[in-house]
Amino acid sequence: MEQINLVNKIYKEVINPGNCFHCGLCEGLSNNLFKMTNSDRGPIPKLNRKPTFKDIPNLKKIVLACPGRGIPYDYLSKKIKTKKKSRILGNYNSLYISSSKSKKIRQKSSSGGLIRTLLIEMIKTKEVDYACVLDEKKNDVLKFDTLITNSIERIYNVSQSIYQTSPLLHKLKLLKKNKTYVFVGTPEQIASLRILKIKYPKEFKHIKYLIGIYVGTNMYPGAIQFYLSGNGIKNIKNIKKIHWRYGEWPGELRIITKNNRILSLKKFYYNYLIPFFISKSCLITPDFTSELSDISFGDAWSPILENKGHGYSVIITRSEKFDKILKKLEKKNHLELKIINFQEAIKMHAHMIEFKKIGSYLRIKKFGINGPIPLYDLKPNHVSNLRKKIEIFILSIISIASNRKIKKIFSFINSHFLGYIFKIIRHFWKLISKPTKRKGLDNLKFTKVNNIRLKEFL
Ligand SMILES: Cc1cc2nc3c(=O)[nH]c(=O)nc-3n(C[C@H](O)[C@H](O)[C@H](O)COP(=O)(O)OP(=O)(O)OC[C@H]3O[C@@H](n4cnc5c(N)ncnc54)[C@H](O)[C@@H]3O)c2cc1C
Ligand code: SF4
Repeated sequence: MEQINLVNKIYKEVINPGNCFHCGLCEGLSNNLFKMTNSDRGPIPKLNRKPTFKDIPNLKKIVLACPGRGIPYDYLSKKIKTKKKSRILGNYNSLYISSSKSKKIRQKSSSGGLIRTLLIEMIKTKEVDYACVLDEKKNDVLKFDTLITNSIERIYNVSQSIYQTSPLLHKLKLLKKNKTYVFVGTPEQIASLRILKIKYPKEFKHIKYLIGIYVGTNMYPGAIQFYLSGNGIKNIKNIKKIHWRYGEWPGELRIITKNNRILSLKKFYYNYLIPFFISKSCLITPDFTSELSDISFGDAWSPILENKGHGYSVIITRSEKFDKILKKLEKKNHLELKIINFQEAIKMHAHMIEFKKIGSYLRIKKFGINGPIPLYDLKPNHVSNLRKKIEIFILSIISIASNRKIKKIFSFINSHFLGYIFKIIRHFWKLISKPTKRKGLDNLKFTKVNNIRLKEFL
């Protein structure tokens, strides 16, 4: 009964202990065996029917590539040809700051509008046949689906970061083997596809390129309803449109109601939603920059650039192909491109890198007391006692804020007020924790971990 054992493994190690990363691979690789279903704790696979022996090959692939079981990043990153090694940003070729020269693209984007600039170029030059991107369903606010398209117009319209846990890989079986595809995804979605490409190169050759996004924190569904409640709006059905990063970079959350009321909150203010709705998946992954992608994009946070507005992205290339495409786009005057060094790239995201590389390690250890956890093949050499205490404080805040009753009470408080208070707390918190966190980052070294997950790949 191998098929039963494989399904049980997914339930026992991933779904039951709450380690699902919501990637959608279970549905995407199986023949109607799993279906992603919505829950308060994000989309989760549900068994649709009894597994049969015919499901075994697909189930084996799912078990191998499921990010909820952990990813041997150090081992897999060596399978990607890059010029430089880093266990903090992932191995890479070059680091850039960049911005689209098209105001039309930039204005609708999260940061520099680079992802869509790149996708449009790849479709136009026939580098790939289709792009696969996460998009909001038409006339269905807060419902997302994977769009597989070669329409420039449609790619142009799929912009901005969706800060809600959403599957992307559930449509894998719809892809045609005689066509080529580029995926845009979060670190765990990209890692899952990379495993398939490395372990089954012929079968997944059609997934030609992987574009990754930096992901610090993501949220469970309910965050927007919580925000609306603080603004006296009880029902999501009253909403016409949600923009996650509207207007001049870094943008704002902008919600338009059906009676044309506009609610807006600056990006750094609506971070107050994070402790209430942060997903477990982003607490238990060490991957911030989509380390197994061909190219990764994030916001180019720096005081000088933020004051300029405009919109800038940081880019990590991990394949020569993308260095070439970027240079070609620069020549065509489609984007601004500036090489930066490793220290500059680290400085832009020092807090979040530390949150992932040290924080995740401590959190996974803590969750491991209660059951299975994802297994990674690196661990930090040393973590100070002060840093461990800081993590206990962070986890306590999240545990209190994510309590249903606490959420209910806070949902009645005005969002601008909460956002303002959160911004002040965040500022002071960063100042207090900076020396400990920075010190940790400067001396950050890792030890290889030889665990059963890594052995599955050897
Ligand atoms: C949940 C989340 C958290 C993030 N956290 C950080 C962070 O901490 N620091 C940082 O520097 N950057 C972060 N980013 C990345 C950043 O917000 C931008 O996505 C990135 O800078 C690219 O901007 P752009 O202007 O080139 O993209 P755009 O041109 O606006 O295109 C956005 C692309 O991202 C895709 N996309 C949006 N949301 C999702 C999603 N949830 N899952 C899969 N694909 C999606 C869209 O389909 C589209 O293709 C985060 C993104 C997300 C989705
Ligand atoms: S992480 Fe992905 S593959 Fe693993 S159980 Fe969740 S949806 Fe399935």
